[in-house]
Amino acid sequence: MKPIYKPKGAAAEYGDYAVNIYTGCTHRCYYCFAPGVLHRDREAFHSCVEPRKDIVTELRRQLEREKITRKLVHLCFTCDPYPTGHDTTATREVIQVLKEYGNHVQILTKGDGSRDFDLLDGGDWYGVTISCDRPMSDKAEPCAARPADRLYNLETAKCKGINTWVSFEPVLDPAAVLNCVKYCAYFIDKVKIGKLNYHPSEINWAKFGREAEATCREMGLDYYIKDSLRAEMDKP
Ligand code: SF4
Repeated sequence: MKPIYKPKGAAAEYGDYAVNIYTGCTHRCYYCFAPGVLHRDREAFHSCVEPRKDIVTELRRQLEREKITRKLVHLCFTCDPYPTGHDTTATREVIQVLKEYGNHVQILTKGDGSRDFDLLDGGDWYGVTISCDRPMSDKAEPCAARPADRLYNLETAKCKGINTWVSFEPVLDPAAVLNCVKYCAYFIDKVKIGKLNYHPSEINWAKFGREAEATCREMGLDYYIKDSLRAEMDKP
């Protein structure tokens, strides 16, 4: 087992290295791509959540064997590092082991990762996904932390000297995303913006993408437009 791997395709736009800690995710986002990627039954993926077998031991072995150090490791792609309602001690231990070997972490969650802020420093990144605001999020991401609570944690992380980022992907409510860019920019270091893929949507992606880019520039934000959204913006 090699817990650290190099993501491919669209996932590579998020990080060069990644670890997936859990077998599933409780958040039940309707757009979740993970069961498809993992060839798992959707209901089983959302209801059976536990740390992957021996994840911490195997991670330590790999770090030792391959001398992996000074890397930024993304947590996580095919699960959430802070699945709501579950013990996340495994995440804490994964962070500790990665940093023990001189690496940094790039967290992305729709849960509450504040318990581990004491482990993070100015080389680490704490990030949250924002796709929409309430009440839409109550249906789209019914078991995740509320968007306002995610942003509160993000601001707290920023106050503690941790780098902060937001993944606006998939965008479900363009107005909510643009508002967030505008009003939360003062505690965000970087944003990544991506469209909703593989699900129907009436959003004018070209228009949204251009507005999002203009707003990021206006707010002086470091931003990245994901390839599939950029392709829509580049259409004549
Ligand atoms: S937080 Fe991520 S992994 Fe969890 S259900 Fe939502 S999209 Fe899937």
